[in-house]
Amino acid sequence: MVDLKGQYEGIKDQVNTSILDVIESTAFINGPQVHAFQKNLETYLNVKHVIPCANGTDALQIAMMGLGLKPGDEVITADFTFAATVEVIALLGLTPVLVDVEPDTFNIDVEAIKNAITENTKAIVPVHLFGQCANMDAIMEIAEVHNLFVIEDNAQAIGATYTSANGSKAKAGTIGHVSSTSFFPSKNLGCYGDGGAIFTNDDNLAHIIRGVVNHGMYERYHHDVVGVNSRLDSIQAAVLNAKLPNLDTYNNTRRDAARKYNAAFAKHTKIVTPKTVNGCGQICDTCDCHVFHQYTLKILDCDRDALVKHLGEQGIPCGVYYPIPLHKQKAYVDARYNEKDFAVTNQLIKEVISLPMHTELDDEQIEFITSTVIKFVNA
Ligand SMILES: *Cc1c(COP(=O)(O)O)cnc(C)c1O
Repeated sequence: MVDLKGQYEGIKDQVNTSILDVIESTAFINGPQVHAFQKNLETYLNVKHVIPCANGTDALQIAMMGLGLKPGDEVITADFTFAATVEVIALLGLTPVLVDVEPDTFNIDVEAIKNAITENTKAIVPVHLFGQCANMDAIMEIAEVHNLFVIEDNAQAIGATYTSANGSKAKAGTIGHVSSTSFFPSKNLGCYGDGGAIFTNDDNLAHIIRGVVNHGMYERYHHDVVGVNSRLDSIQAAVLNAKLPNLDTYNNTRRDAARKYNAAFAKHTKIVTPKTVNGCGQICDTCDCHVFHQYTLKILDCDRDALVKHLGEQGIPCGVYYPIPLHKQKAYVDARYNEKDFAVTNQLIKEVISLPMHTELDDEQIEFITSTVIKFVNA
């Protein structure tokens, strides 16, 4: 699904030098590379505060701790996402409220959010799934009306740009009150191990969060709040400093591959290509609205699981993200859920398939993948 070796070959010298510097300096924890990366990412995103941490799951949890959410508070998020999002809500004793997604973008459904709001609702967690922002204009408006926090789960959309109805543009993860991201190796900006970060434009919240990530300390050995230990280590920051200058190029390369996939599948009605809804509505590098963390098709009138098996046999990696809705996962079942409220997710889990998507895909690979899919689907 990804080709991290091929990508490394292109930046080998920078990465190796960067990592060696850390080893020579022995500043393995909170070294100058971590501080530099924080500043570099703040500049890239045009956000006031980046707080690095150990991984994307921690980032979500810490964001919620920083906001002071309390047991009993309800947090609305999407049924169709990776489990980390709902896991940390539950772990903090908050009440996860899963809602359906849109059939074309796979992102959280705005009407479903509205229907799920109660007097206990405190936050909404939109996940910018597969590399495209959720409907942030509408979500921020709902949040303002109901006095809710918005925590963007930006693990899959770093570098994407959101264009508001009024024409203003902002990077994904800089629109809500606070955001989280992951630098897991296969993410669009991946390190060579685990890593994550929290972003916010709120000075006070940033201050609180800087203590939370560091055992609740604001002054050495004074623990004012219950915190955690969550750090981005210096070697990972060194890798990220070498890769960040290439992020836009990497995302352009992903969009190129997506355009080629789309063109190949265009005339095939059983194959529904991903819809880009923000910006110009095309896959264009000027609006950067989609960064294709995943390239995900919907397969209609065809046995999706048989296609997965067939691609595997042909040596083509593929994935089903996600095969089970969160509301049906044992850990998260809740008597309040009603199947009819999850019609879209229940359908998507049968239709979606994600094809190889990374920075090293060549035309020959794309041609082999698309022709194999087309042949099978039309057989
Ligand atoms: C990857 C991912 C996470 C978790 O990131 P980790 O760094 O693996 O903890 C959270 N949310 C979403 C949507 C993700 O894709």
